[in-house]
Amino acid sequence: MSGDHPSSVISARVRHVEALLESRGLLDEGEIDGRIDEFLAGGSPANGARITARAWVDPGFAERLLADANEAIREVGLSMAGGLQEQRLKVVANTADEHNVVVCTLCSCYPIALLGPSPGWYKSEAYRSRVVRDPRGVLREFGLELPETTRISVWDASAESRYMVVPRRPEGTEGLSEEQLAALVTRKGLIGTAAV
Ligand code: FE
Repeated sequence: MSGDHPSSVISARVRHVEALLESRGLLDEGEIDGRIDEFLAGGSPANGARITARAWVDPGFAERLLADANEAIREVGLSMAGGLQEQRLKVVANTADEHNVVVCTLCSCYPIALLGPSPGWYKSEAYRSRVVRDPRGVLREFGLELPETTRISVWDASAESRYMVVPRRPEGTEGLSEEQLAALVTRKGLIGTAAV
């Protein structure tokens, strides 16, 4: 890979700024790394699964979640403010007519606080370039065959905006507790490359 990939240019600039701030005593050595570690440590797909299960059992929460996800996730003790600056979160819900899938076409932006570190395929050039052009074909390769009548929306994440999908609640789960429902939700389901 060439050295002028946008992310390597950005990391070089970030390291430069970090070194300047440290040399002027504005930042302790390793402070940023520490904050990032803290942020990553709290991130896990279990968080996204918990949000999903709550949305399935509580229609009021689901409505608030779709309207203003940053506010709504605080109700379950989560937040997108764990990094250096709060990221805007938009949550989209699958329905019988519409399926949602998330990508970052530019690099690999991802809601780490809710899903943990992103999987390798999410960062791959193949996924990033193809899911926009042929979402149905890419989802089929993931083993997700959607009816021709289902509309597919592709959400492109960015440095400022992150997305999470609420999968459809599986049939026959009426008797399950919120905790049992959360256990059904997978990371792929929260990105949109699996049904649940
Ligand atoms: Fe990105």
